[in-house]
Amino acid sequence: MATEHPRRTLAALGLSPRKSLGQNFLADRNVAGKIVALARSLPPPYLEIGPGLGALTDLLAEAGAPVVAVEVDRGLAAHLRDRLVGTSVEILEADFLAVEPPEWKRRFPGGGTIVGNLPYSISSPVVLRLLELRDRFPRAVLMLQREVVDRLCAGPGGKEYGILSVYLGVLAEARREFVVRRACFHPAPDVDSAVMSVRFAGDSPEALVAALRTVVRAAFAHRRKTLRNAPVPFLPGGTAQWCGLLESAGIDPAGRAGEVPPSSYLALAKAFARI
Ligand code: SAM
Repeated sequence: MATEHPRRTLAALGLSPRKSLGQNFLADRNVAGKIVALARSLPPPYLEIGPGLGALTDLLAEAGAPVVAVEVDRGLAAHLRDRLVGTSVEILEADFLAVEPPEWKRRFPGGGTIVGNLPYSISSPVVLRLLELRDRFPRAVLMLQREVVDRLCAGPGGKEYGILSVYLGVLAEARREFVVRRACFHPAPDVDSAVMSVRFAGDSPEALVAALRTVVRAAFAHRRKTLRNAPVPFLPGGTAQWCGLLESAGIDPAGRAGEVPPSSYLALAKAFARI
């Protein structure tokens, strides 16, 4: 890890943390070591999202493991490029969400592992992108806002359970690994963070995933109402056909989206994909 405190490094570079880019830099070496130990138990090469000042990057690349680190901030990307020249790290100055999947195919022909201390504001789109990239990057270690991790890893029955928890529940094993206190960052954010690991199952055909997205979005569109009231413009037979599909998947149309376990959503997606 860069040996200086982020405050000093930023001052030396003449940079200030940019709130709009979620720049809360990890300032605790033990935590960085724990995250990277988790990541390094998974196969290289690594794709790091948002390397910032390189708190995780240096440790990831120890012993020469290949890392592609994608950073949107021009000043930080330039600093890292200078500092890490001649190492196994390649800095890509780009918005992770704007990089198209074929680019990752070119850079990671044999796949890899995703690592990142993510900017909070883009955590949902990043998770959706990880779903898209699941065949190329079946494993990920991510640090996010603690509440977001709790939502992503939630099971049915509580208010945290939502669309992304269902997707991960069906397509992956997602686990909260440990909590990281806000004081471990510079500047300290208003909330604590948590680290999670994700392992995607390798056998989910794209058509099934598309069907899953359609039915889950419909189910959660009005999550306080019963499932029979879900908007289903994608079904020619409307509500009657929807209730038939729910029942064929063993789901009670009088129940609510937040009570249905991932396995039942998978059954619903399969039933929908067959029609
Ligand atoms: N990894 C560093 C650490 O742990 O100290 C920095 C983490 S900081 C929470 C998030 C980083 O992601 C910042 O460096 C920020 O500039 C970068 N970032 C924000 N949005 C991004 C995007 N769309 N694509 C790539 N990097 C992004």
